[in-house]
Amino acid sequence: MRRLMWQRNRRRNAATLAAHKRDHEWITNVDLKMMRRALNLARAAGLCGEIPVAAIVYRGEEIISEAANDREASNDPAGHAELVALRLAGAKLGRWRLHDCRLAVTLEPCPMCAGAIVNSRLQALVFGASDPKGGAVGSLYHIPQDARLNHRLPCAAGVYKAEASGLLKGFFAQRRAFKSR
Ligand SMILES: [Zn+2]
Repeated sequence: MRRLMWQRNRRRNAATLAAHKRDHEWITNVDLKMMRRALNLARAAGLCGEIPVAAIVYRGEEIISEAANDREASNDPAGHAELVALRLAGAKLGRWRLHDCRLAVTLEPCPMCAGAIVNSRLQALVFGASDPKGGAVGSLYHIPQDARLNHRLPCAAGVYKAEASGLLKGFFAQRRAFKSR
């Protein structure tokens, strides 16, 4: 049973990779693996009452930092997963330029985070669900590929988007149900 599941997941991951490679030849299995890890982190954050979004900064296969959205716990308006992870990565590597690192995040970054992503000189960005109301990587703006800014980076959208948006929808549905009780 476990072996069957493992085989099925492996086939699914290979199909996901092939689909994304058609648009982004730079994407690898490591990017998908980091996104799956971010989804697990996001799920855990949702259980703690945070909006379930998580981000991981990685260099090759090495995880440099990871964080979930922590606005409720920290009372920090800038407590978005991407910003927290970027700050941790800079502190760990002892530099603010993260040109050899990539970032995987479960939700399309907002303007604040997309700005921080450009400013950190990241190598590439991979994200899950799009955010039509607040996203700044294709939805409302496309900050990481704006030619007027001094750094641009390749971005892959929609990686495990069904899982990523399912997490968010489930969280908000549960919160609404709780509030109406
Ligand atoms: Zn943000």
